[in-house]
Amino acid sequence: MQTLFGASQTAKEGADLAFTDPLTGLGNQRRFFDKVDRLIADRADDPAPFAVGIIDLDGFKPINDLFGHEAGDDILIQVALRLRAAMDSHSAVTRVGADEFAFLYPMVFSEEAATEKSKMLIEILSAPYDVGERTARLSASVGCSLFYSGDETTEVLVRKAESALYQAKRSGRGRVVVYTREMEEAAKRMTRIEQALRRAVSAGEVEPHFQPIVDLKTRRTIGFETLARWTDRDLGFVSPVVFIPIAEERGIIGQLSQLVLRKATEAARAWPDDLFLSFNLSPSQLVDQNTGQHILNILHRTGFDPGRLEIEITETGLMSDPASAEKIVADLRRVGIRVSLDDFGTGQSSLGRLREFQFDKLKIDRAFVASILDDRPSEHIIRAILAMCEGLGMDVVAEGIEQEAQADKLVQFGCGGGQGYLFGKPANADATLGYLRDAFRGASHVAA
Ligand code: C2E
Ligand code: MG
Ligand code: MG
Repeated sequence: MQTLFGASQTAKEGADLAFTDPLTGLGNQRRFFDKVDRLIADRADDPAPFAVGIIDLDGFKPINDLFGHEAGDDILIQVALRLRAAMDSHSAVTRVGADEFAFLYPMVFSEEAATEKSKMLIEILSAPYDVGERTARLSASVGCSLFYSGDETTEVLVRKAESALYQAKRSGRGRVVVYTREMEEAAKRMTRIEQALRRAVSAGEVEPHFQPIVDLKTRRTIGFETLARWTDRDLGFVSPVVFIPIAEERGIIGQLSQLVLRKATEAARAWPDDLFLSFNLSPSQLVDQNTGQHILNILHRTGFDPGRLEIEITETGLMSDPASAEKIVADLRRVGIRVSLDDFGTGQSSLGRLREFQFDKLKIDRAFVASILDDRPSEHIIRAILAMCEGLGMDVVAEGIEQEAQADKLVQFGCGGGQGYLFGKPANADATLGYLRDAFRGASHVAA
């Protein structure tokens, strides 16, 4: 067979090449899997743990862009040399992706030891690299997992190490995360919740609850925020803080959201028709161009006036794909649906966002409201937000009001709307109707 080297190749050389990374000369992904497979087989009778890990270079792409591909390759070769030099006679390191390396430590038996070894590798990789006349610096993140029992396959170990690496990356640069038994338990629990949630959504068992939003000065109810509630047969009550992120991550959020919006708009038809209904959209729904159409279909089917619907989105929701979010928001506003910016002041608040996007309303996060009475900075921040909203012509709702004194202060600063346990906790559709009958006693427009 003709090769790059122009010579004919023996079968052994061919096999070696298939297991070798041509750039660095280290083993490749196949070699890594092969080594771990063999070690698992060796440990069949002697179940001593061992560790595998994946190293990912932080910020390698910008370096490649800055110094050029040749220099990038040169750095990868230096990385490989350093890693190889750091291995003892039992251990192995291979290159498994563009800027990813995997190691195998047969004699590392504990999570602590795996962390120690990984930290050492990160340190070795963070010394400067010569690139011609210049020097470059890199950091690296590591995810590890340990083999504990014969039940684990190479694929499982690698998947756990990848999941640990993902967490390491997410928590910043230069970190090590070892996949622990607690993480395994948490992952299992998540899967249990996911399965129960899929069933519950198909069976229509997630319910909308409604929390009043009031005009702070008059205390009159002006609308309700829809909050999803789910009590599973086996798991019991599960908070939306737990199940909404799982629904997002596992692709159930669209279906869940449609179910809750349908039920919510059906319930809200019985309310006085000057009350609005507010509904939360998740970040992943702002990436899906079908979201707008799904909402409109539901409004059409339930006969709910789009002019009474408000959609709450967070800044995180705008960030992953601003162009897509902007299009969805524009589509919704065109048919008269109002759009609020939820949880303002936490997360990655960017005032620039308020110029790019048109919002009808802003909701001040309850963290500020909670400290308004005893914290001068919170007070100033709230006043600044209120002044800004006035200038931009946006309505404001302060979230999480629990005390009279907080409400008084907000009125004094000129905040128009309020929401919180002080005015009412989230309640189901029937209880909400009861609340409205009391609040609007004598008014004939609350359906009997
Ligand atoms: P959020 O949209 O910021 O909703 C306000 C949260 O604050 C609700 O929590 C509400 O019960 C709570 N809250 C309201 N007043 C007070 C108060 O005075 N004190 C305190 N301590 N808390 C108060 P909940 O219902 O647990 O919902 C949490 C989050 O889950 C919501 O935050 C929202 O982001 C999300 N969520 C809930 N339902 C849905 C849904 O149907 N779809 C989507 N995408 N997200 C939802
Ligand atoms: Mg909300
Ligand atoms: Mg909120």
